[in-house]
Amino acid sequence: MTNTSAQKGKNNPMRPDQMDISQIDLPESALAQRPTLLQRLRWSLSEIQWRLINRYRMTCSWLMWLGHKPSPMEVWAEKELRLAGWYDEDGFYGGMMGPALLRMIREFGAEGHSGMSAGISVGVFSRLARYEPLMPLEGDESEWSDPVNPDGMQQNTRCGRVFRRADGTAYDIEGKVFREPNGVSFTSGDSFVDVKFPYDPQTEYVDVPYGDGVTCEHCGDDLSGLMGHECGGAS
Ligand SMILES: [Zn+2]
Repeated sequence: MTNTSAQKGKNNPMRPDQMDISQIDLPESALAQRPTLLQRLRWSLSEIQWRLINRYRMTCSWLMWLGHKPSPMEVWAEKELRLAGWYDEDGFYGGMMGPALLRMIREFGAEGHSGMSAGISVGVFSRLARYEPLMPLEGDESEWSDPVNPDGMQQNTRCGRVFRRADGTAYDIEGKVFREPNGVSFTSGDSFVDVKFPYDPQTEYVDVPYGDGVTCEHCGDDLSGLMGHECGGAS
């Protein structure tokens, strides 16, 4: 009797994910940054903890914070969230935003940041949470999706608002955002701005007059085409 599966496996070429990475030449800087065993252990533990929390989110969240003494920041944040109506059951998202945001504040507090690392991590987080890349786009081949239309247009996989035409030129579909006097913002075909690499995604806000048919909610005046309004009650 022959063991076919073992034979099959024997002559298979090595798949890319089975490559021995110790054979790859790493630059000095990468070697210097290799994590220590202790760091790896710590990361593994937090990874396991993170997966468990995700799996049993509500229970874990409750258990984790059972008997937890809220930090001054949590107390303050919860008060602010309640004042702003994020806990109201008849408000936006049925009051789910308040607890969700407070959980983030708790996690943030548990990281034990210094004043400086706190500021940096908030900045990095807010970019990641909005799918904004941390480093400028390079425009390399590896950054582009498969064509998204018959013209061969491709989307940047690091930043979804950047596209490349078949001729190799690229543009940002949110390069310009138009803003009416009451703060209402919108994009249109005129928002497209051609870009050159390396490109750090930027948005230029362009103030425009009120659109057609906008009336003041106080006096009922037609505001179409105006850049402002005396009574300030535009809607
Ligand atoms: Zn008015």
